[in-house]
Amino acid sequence: MSKYVSSVYRDREARVCAPYYKPIPAVIERAEGVWMWDVEGKKYLDMMSAYSAVSQGHLHPRIIKVIEEQMRVLTLTSRAFHTDKLGAFLQKMCDISGMEMAAPLNTGAEAVELAIKAARRWGYHTKGIKHNEAEIIVANNNFHGRTTTIISFSTEREYRYQFGPFTPGFKAIPFGDADALEAVITPNTCAFLVEPIQGEAGIIVPPEGWLKRVREICTKNNVLLILDEIQSGLGRTGKCFAFQHEGIEPDGLILGKALGGGFLPVSAFLSSREVMELMGPGSHGSTFGGNPLAAVVGLEAINIVLDEKLAERSATEGAYFLEKLRAIDSPLIKEVRGRGLWIGMEIQHVTARAVCERLMEKGLLSKETHETVVRFAPPLVIERKELDWALEQVETTLKELEG
Ligand SMILES: *Cc1c(COP(=O)(O)O)cnc(C)c1O
Repeated sequence: MSKYVSSVYRDREARVCAPYYKPIPAVIERAEGVWMWDVEGKKYLDMMSAYSAVSQGHLHPRIIKVIEEQMRVLTLTSRAFHTDKLGAFLQKMCDISGMEMAAPLNTGAEAVELAIKAARRWGYHTKGIKHNEAEIIVANNNFHGRTTTIISFSTEREYRYQFGPFTPGFKAIPFGDADALEAVITPNTCAFLVEPIQGEAGIIVPPEGWLKRVREICTKNNVLLILDEIQSGLGRTGKCFAFQHEGIEPDGLILGKALGGGFLPVSAFLSSREVMELMGPGSHGSTFGGNPLAAVVGLEAINIVLDEKLAERSATEGAYFLEKLRAIDSPLIKEVRGRGLWIGMEIQHVTARAVCERLMEKGLLSKETHETVVRFAPPLVIERKELDWALEQVETTLKELEG
């Protein structure tokens, strides 16, 4: 246990830490699997898994092992030189996704930025769009990260307020509306960039058949379909990738979060040879992207998802949890929705924050999304008995708050 009570760490952090997060007040000291412990020794079930970046569970021993081995041999060369580890990692991502080439990066937002650059270049070079006139279509309430270009096409006021001037070249349409996509495409459209299920918007599941129609519309109009699966990918929705629910293939795929196995920032943009080959020497780069430590972690993170059948677990356990949550009879629940172990519980009459803080007291950690949604996205290794325990805490918490 740490030396001081929680408030000492919280206060120290608050004095010096940029205040753009409003954390749940738990002060975490260690974690293992689906459990976390705070500085006072209190144990919590992690139903947040770092916004789905810890799908494999905290401190997975297989990732510790590859890190320990790699860190004694080689950790960083930059891309000025080749390494013996990068190819195997990228090959694996291509194999599981059906993409032909991959670009290794660090954070999700960086991979989105490269997707935008690659789509624009393809638009000019291959599609023949007039210079500087390429357009990318996005969805309302999207979340793709926090860089100045990415917030330029956010529709969230608080993500954008006083951060202009913004990058032009984006058009937003309603999420899940294929007709709107078809209507807004012009000869200058190079790509449609979208999350297959919107995470930060509050776990918004689009109508069935939407993605299939989107695929057809993009193909017909020679527009790249780029899916941001940073959060939905690697098993979270009950398939390895969310696009597999509708049997389609995107032209570009963005991965991150769980690709780092809960240890390192590891992300990637994947696409066809036709698109990626346009990104020749000098057109992009990243000092840390694809470093050998990240490469072994990324490869092992994927192998764990496959070997431990985490997508299948997410499907069955997620369906169970969703059904049980829907069966809770409480006037505070407006809607429960989601896919796999990625579930949003929309709250009314009280704030989602109040629910999360009460859940914390009971030893269950989650975080509200906007004011009204409580998110349940545990590590995919979670067991049925742990979900049952979580359900009890949710049920009693809601009962208490109803009073
Ligand atoms: C988290 C997330 C990002 C941004 O990833 P960072 O690693 O925080 O930059 C982008 N897109 C989606 C869908 C995300 O969930």
